[in-house]
This record gives sequence, structure tokens and C-alpha cells, in this order.
Amino acid sequence: MEKISLSEKEIPTHYYNILADLPEPPSPPLNPETNEPIRPEMLEPLFPKALIEQEVSREKRIEIPDEVMEIYKKYRATPLYRATRLEKLLGTPAKIYYKYEGASLTGSHKLNTALPQAYYNKQEGIKALTTETGAGQWGMALSLAAKFFDLKCLIFYVRLHYQQKPYRVSFMRMFDAEVLPSPSNQTIIGRKFLKEDPNHPGSLGIAISEAMEKVTDGSIKYSLGSVLNHVLLHQTIIGQEAKLQLEKDDEYPDVIYSCFGGGSNLAGISFPFLSDVLTKKKKVRVVAVEPDTCPTLTKGEYKYDFGDTAKTTPLFKMYSLGADFIPPKIQAGGLRYHGAAPLVSHLVNKGYIETISVSQTDVMEAARLFTQTEGILPAPESAHAIKGAIDEAIRCKKEGVKETILINISGHGFLDLQGYEEFLDGKLAVQ
Ligand SMILES: *Cc1c(COP(=O)(O)O)cnc(C)c1O
Repeated sequence: MEKISLSEKEIPTHYYNILADLPEPPSPPLNPETNEPIRPEMLEPLFPKALIEQEVSREKRIEIPDEVMEIYKKYRATPLYRATRLEKLLGTPAKIYYKYEGASLTGSHKLNTALPQAYYNKQEGIKALTTETGAGQWGMALSLAAKFFDLKCLIFYVRLHYQQKPYRVSFMRMFDAEVLPSPSNQTIIGRKFLKEDPNHPGSLGIAISEAMEKVTDGSIKYSLGSVLNHVLLHQTIIGQEAKLQLEKDDEYPDVIYSCFGGGSNLAGISFPFLSDVLTKKKKVRVVAVEPDTCPTLTKGEYKYDFGDTAKTTPLFKMYSLGADFIPPKIQAGGLRYHGAAPLVSHLVNKGYIETISVSQTDVMEAARLFTQTEGILPAPESAHAIKGAIDEAIRCKKEGVKETILINISGHGFLDLQGYEEFLDGKLAVQ
């Protein structure tokens, strides 16, 4: 089929928790002062109890609340497409499918976790949320979710992307969010960086520090768009749907491609399939594709490190380029993070997930090919997955093998056109 949909009744009713299936759990987060594992209660100033429970839960299936499901049904299931025109152009015997999260209300997969996060905060009487956003997709998703659950929203938006993608700011403000370019003059850490450079481009690590600094009393909590276990958990709705959709075409993937920033869309598409690997001895390759300018998984060290630049978070065992790493300026802003989800890091370390890195120009070229054949303009982040999958399809052609490739397209690129414009004009830079 060209496009495989699911009816409302077929949408999965639970999130899938891979922690239940892992033979060996990942190393726990540590308190940097004592080097002892963090006790769940220590996270209570930051997150509502329900999310902390999900963070450490070993339950295999966690029910999606009705109030969240109601909103999911406005855009889920997202479509699964067969990339027939791309296959033809490449002349590959491989079958290429892609799951299109660009069809969400805010244009990316981030809404899948923003909604339950806002819901659980509301349930526990919280009035406002604060967060950071890199490329802006997470800020857009949380703005919508906060509005739908009647919460205020304060967003620290990495200055480089605030300037690159001003329409994302307008989108957030349409939902009444307060948006500040980061580093901002509203926090101690922000002022420190502004003093060094009044036009500091910012980074996710700095923006996280600013948002964390704002969580001072009990009325405002912090919300994170990737990396943590509960965020990855919420995203598993993607892979569960994809599995049902592929079944309708009598298919099962040989290999799954996803871009990698912090790990949430990769986890979302792949964990439900890795469950089959862990429990049913199925074989499926999972490949994380990252930019060669922020090569966290391919070049980073697997170690305990801080999640933010001010070193205020717990220590996480993860692949990291160092908490002080400020990534070069690239168009795929959602992939500029020094660290990686501890769960994904663990699976990479154990050999369940492969990693590759690709150049910005190759990625934009792959996006152009995809747009010209499939008609969908992907986010520059998502185009990393497309680049990886195209190379895989070409390998299948050379070897004459009929593999089934599944790509996760994490978002659309309608608000990334300035970057594509620079690419078309030959002015694409890495600074
Ligand atoms: C945020 C984002 C990413 C990167 O984050 P992950 O947690 O690795 O998924 C990728 N694509 C899009 C469209 C994003 O918004």
C-alpha cells in the first residue's frame, strides 16, 4: 500500500517500557555531590510524581490517560507511507517505508510527550511549566500542550535558532507561551554567558541550566523534551503504530533508521521492535544517524556526565562530548546536544543499536531527493535518517537484496526553509 492508516480503535492504548525487557538495567543517575544513586524523591522539585514513577518504572505497559488519548486522536495514528517513488528513482530492490510524525499538530513527534507531561503536571496542581528548546520544535509542542491543559509556559529558546527560525516564536506565542532567547538576562547563568558575548548563540546545555534555575518554588516545574526515560516511553506510541501498520502490508523491518539528537524519536520508533529482539529473538537492525559536527554516539565517550552546561543536573551514564561542548551552528538544531539518552546509550553500548554520522551537505541533498520524489519536505533533523536509509537502499541494490527499510521522519521542514534556501544558494555553512 502507498499509505497505511489505523482507525481510532486501533491506536495503541499503552506506552511500552523497554526497562521491563532489558536483561541488565542501565547504570542509575548519580548525585554529583555524593556519587550515590539519585533517589526518586530527589527529583520532586523538578517533576510531578507520576512522571518520576514512570522514570523508574519496570512495568512493561503503562496506560495512556483518557484525557491524553482524546488529543492524540486529533492527529494519531500518523500515516505510514511506502516510498515507492524514491525506491524507483534509486532503482533499489529494497522496500522503503516511512512513518511521518510531521503530521502531528505541531509538526514533529515532540507533541507525543508534551501532552502527557502537561497532563500529569496539571493533575498534581502545578500552574506553570518551564523548559528549553533547541530548534524550537519542543517549545512549540509544549506551548500547545500547556495551553490544552491550562498551564503557563516559559521557554528558553537557544538564541541561534530563535534568530534563525522566528516563526517558531510566533507559533509558541499564539499559545500564550513566554519565549526568551537563551542565554537570557533572566538567570544568573544566562547573564554570565551574555557578559562573555552579548550575542552568544547559546546551546541546549545552557538553556537547560536557565530553565532549571527558574524552578525555585513548588508552583513551576521543569519539562524535558528528550533524553529521560519517561520521555522515551511516551514516544513508543510511534513504533507500536508502525508495527501494526506494517503488519497490514505483511511486512517486518530488517533495518530501522532514525535521526539522533537526544534519542527520543529513535527510541519511539525502535523500542517496540527491540522488544521483539529482546524477548522473541527477532532480528532487526536499528541505526542512529547523527551530524558529524555533533557526533555524540560515534565519537563521544561512554561515561558519567552532566546534562547541562552549568553542571546542575544529576550525573547520567551516557555517551557525551562533554558538558562544556558548544556544537557548531548547523541547520539541524534539534541534533545539537552534547549528551544522549542513558537508555539509548546503554543499548548502543550493548550492541543493539548501530551508529553513523553524516555531513550537513549530504543530509540536505538527501532531503532534496526525498522532497522531489515523495513530495514531503522533511525537517533537516529527519533528513539525517533519510540520508542513512538512502545509502542502505543503494547497498541493497549493489548486493541485490530485498530488505525492508523503515525510516522515522520525526518532523516536517516548513519552518526550516531558510536553511534549505542557504543550501540551494550554495551558502550552507558550518560555523
Ligand atoms: C527534537 C527533534 C529531534 C531530535 O530529538 P530526539 O530526542 O533525538 O528525537 C529530531 N527531529 C525533530 C523534528 C525534532 O524536533
